[in-house]
Amino acid sequence: MNNSDVIVIGAGPAGLASAAIMQGLGLSVTVLEKTDAVGSVWRRHYDRLHLHTDRGHSGLPGMAMPRSYPTYPSKEQVIDYLESYAAHFRLRPAFNTTVHQIARDGAQWIADTTKGAFSAPVVVVATGWADFPHRPSWPGIDTFRGHLIHSSEYRNTSPYTDQRVLVVGFGNSGGEIALDLATGRIDTTLAVRGPVQILPRDLLGIPILTWAIAQNSLPAAVVDFINAPVIRLAVGPIERLGLKRAAKGPRRMIEEDGRVPLLDIGTLAKIRDGSIKVRGGIDRFTPDGVFFSDQAAQQFDAVILATGFRTDLRALLPNARGVLSPEGKPLVTGATTNEPGLYFCGLLASPTGQLRQIGLEAIRIGDLARHYVTSPGK
Ligand SMILES: Cc1cc2nc3c(=O)[nH]c(=O)nc-3n(C[C@H](O)[C@H](O)[C@H](O)COP(=O)(O)OP(=O)(O)OC[C@H]3O[C@@H](n4cnc5c(N)ncnc54)[C@H](O)[C@@H]3O)c2cc1C
Repeated sequence: MNNSDVIVIGAGPAGLASAAIMQGLGLSVTVLEKTDAVGSVWRRHYDRLHLHTDRGHSGLPGMAMPRSYPTYPSKEQVIDYLESYAAHFRLRPAFNTTVHQIARDGAQWIADTTKGAFSAPVVVVATGWADFPHRPSWPGIDTFRGHLIHSSEYRNTSPYTDQRVLVVGFGNSGGEIALDLATGRIDTTLAVRGPVQILPRDLLGIPILTWAIAQNSLPAAVVDFINAPVIRLAVGPIERLGLKRAAKGPRRMIEEDGRVPLLDIGTLAKIRDGSIKVRGGIDRFTPDGVFFSDQAAQQFDAVILATGFRTDLRALLPNARGVLSPEGKPLVTGATTNEPGLYFCGLLASPTGQLRQIGLEAIRIGDLARHYVTSPGK
C-alpha cells in the first residue's frame, strides 16, 4: 500500500492549493486525480468563459496569476496558470486514479482507487462539484424530441445555428450561455422561475469582489441593506424586463442558500435590446417545447439546463459520521470536521470568490493537518 502524510483527492484548484501548502509544510502528499491532467474541469468549460472574479483575487496561495493576464482571464489562461502552479510547486498527481471511496482504519484513512489502496492519516477531499450536475425533472421531459443538455455540457453556439434555444436558470452559467447564444444571433429564451439578484461585475471601475471582501466582516443582512440602493442604481430597473428582484440580498442568498447571484457581463443589455427573451418557470415539457407556468406553450429545438450542481459525497464517504448533510453535502469546508484527519476544500459557495476561498481554506487546512500529523491525539 502507498503511504504518505496526506492524500489529496482531486487536482483542480482546491487540490493543487492544498497539496502545495502541505508540501511546503514538510508533509508528504499524494494527489489522486481521476483524469489525465490538472484543472480538468476548466478544460471542459464553455469556450467563451472568462473568470468572473478578478485576477488579483483569483490566484492560489504562493503564486499569483501573471501580471500579463487581463483583469478577467480566459479559461485557457486559467488552465495555463494551473499547469504552471503544479510545475512551480513540483506537484505530480497520480493521474487516471479514481478514488471510489475513503474509509478510516484506526489512525489511517484508506483510499480505495482504480490503482489500488493508498493510506494516510490526513485526507483532503477537493473533488469540486462538477460531477453532480442538477437536472430537475418536469412532467413530459422524456417526451421532448429536441436536444436537451446540462450547462456543464455546453461548449459553444455551433450546434444551435438556426435553432430556438431555451436556457433554464439565471445563475452565472445560464446568464453567460444565453449571452453567448444571443451574441451568435441565435433565437434565445431564458426561463427564470423565481426572483433573482444581479450584481455588476465592476462597480465604479472596481471589481465587485473587492467591495465584497471589504465588507466581509459585517453581518450579511447589514451588507445587503447598505448595498441595496447602489446595486439598484448600477443594475437599473429589472422588473420591466420581466425579472423579479429577490427580497433576500445577494450576500444572504449565498450564505443561506448557497446561490451565487448573477454577475452581469452583458446579459441584461441583451435582454433590454430583445435578443434574449425572458419567460417564467417551466410547468411541463411537450414533444416539441415547453408549457411555461403561465400555461403559454412555446416550441424549442434545444433546452440547456443551467440549473446548477448538487454535491453528494455519500458514495465517496460511506462510513463517515457527522460530516455530511442528509443529501451528502459537506457540513463544513476548510475547517476541522467531525472525523479526525478528514478535511474538505472549496466545497461550499463563498460570497468572496470561490478561488480566493479555496486558497484561504487550503492555508487553514494545512495548519490543521500539520498539527494533526505531528500530534495526532490533541
Ligand atoms: C462555469 C464556471 C465558472 C466559474 N468561474 C469562477 C470564477 O470566475 N471565479 C471563481 O472564484 N470561481 C469560479 N468558479 C467556481 C470554482 O472556482 C471552480 O469551479 C473551481 O474549478 C473549483 O475548484 P475545485 O478544485 O474545488 O474543483 P474542480 O475544478 O471541479 O476540480 C476537482 C477535481 O477533482 C477530480 N475528482 C473528482 N472526483 C474524483 C475522484 N473520486 N477521484 C479522483 N479525482 C476526482 C476532478 O477530476 C477534478 O480534476 C466557476 C465554476 C464554474 C462551473
